[in-house]
Amino acid sequence: MNAYFDNAATTAVLPEVLDRMKEYFLSEYGNAGSTHILGMNASESAEEARERISYALSCKSEEVFFTSGGTESDNWAIQSAVETTGKKHIISSVIEHKAILSKLQSMEKQGVTCTLLPVDTNGMVNPDDLRRAIRPDTALVTIMAANNEVGTIQPINRLYSICQEHGVLFHTDAVQAFGKIMITAHSADMISISAHKINGPKGIGALYVRSGVTMAPLLYGGGQEGGMRSGTLPVPLVVGFGYAAGSMMDHSRVDSLTKKLERGILGSIPNASLTAASAFRVPGIANFCFRGIEAHSLVKSLSYRHEICCSAGSACSAKTTKPSYVLRACGLSVADCHSSIRFSLGRFNTEKEIDFLLAILPEMVVSLGKSI
Ligand code: PLP
Repeated sequence: MNAYFDNAATTAVLPEVLDRMKEYFLSEYGNAGSTHILGMNASESAEEARERISYALSCKSEEVFFTSGGTESDNWAIQSAVETTGKKHIISSVIEHKAILSKLQSMEKQGVTCTLLPVDTNGMVNPDDLRRAIRPDTALVTIMAANNEVGTIQPINRLYSICQEHGVLFHTDAVQAFGKIMITAHSADMISISAHKINGPKGIGALYVRSGVTMAPLLYGGGQEGGMRSGTLPVPLVVGFGYAAGSMMDHSRVDSLTKKLERGILGSIPNASLTAASAFRVPGIANFCFRGIEAHSLVKSLSYRHEICCSAGSACSAKTTKPSYVLRACGLSVADCHSSIRFSLGRFNTEKEIDFLLAILPEMVVSLGKSI
């Protein structure tokens, strides 16, 4: 049986989303900046997509800026906050995606200092730690809404109100949260989202920026996106993103499949534990430690023998042999990090797939345990 349990890495494009996109590659291929009929059609469709996304975020359409994805949105939010405030201190957390952490590291070379808040064993940031870390020269607080490896949901609303009390900008990377939990314009001053995590196309995302927040342009050129992010709009991707955002579903089915998987694994595999077990987690993400098992061997066995896709570490870092910094921050030992696997479920997963996985996994774990 083939089953895809790596939806936190990326998702399949919805067939109806692809159908809508095709038209903009083949017939409605005008440049949204052109003044002829094809250009105007393209521009209108892109604006419709922007409206769909702003509806999903409960914001105004002019507060949505298209980017190439979550990475670009994250980088832009950080860069812009430093440039526009002139302040040189940023607060974030130790479990952010590399799109945040690597950008912060690069900013240190420009004299920016960063405070990375710790997390507890559930991957949770403590709001009191944030309160204590804010300084007069803090330009930005950026804390992810949901973690990509363990799924922990942060208390974004509380963190945002602490920032508001102190007059500090708050950004959240909601790439893993958008479409799964309530993320709206009330959640932050700036929000990063990405289409390929919500059954939309790869290569398109957005940054929500609350009106009133001054932005520094990211790319200079033809003046698209209100002069903030120049470059010809990839209209087919934008349209696909809009439809994907409009077709986001109720995640209760994914949630109950995930719970079934958790119960099944914990009930049948004695050396298995669930990381961030007591945290509120986004539907679909469950990270298990199979103590004593080499995670990459298990991922390979599942893939080669049964065409089951899951991940040891997040996709971007799965090829490194370094232990996951997220799991380490949640208190796992180096050995346990190397024994950890993430299953991430999405809208196309079925009960049958979960049953199949639960039928083969216990024996596979036992046999891999013997081979060590
Ligand atoms: N932030 C988080 C939490 C993610 O999970 C990802 C992708 O895995 C990104 C940012 C990067 O998004 P993109 O792939 O759209 O650049």
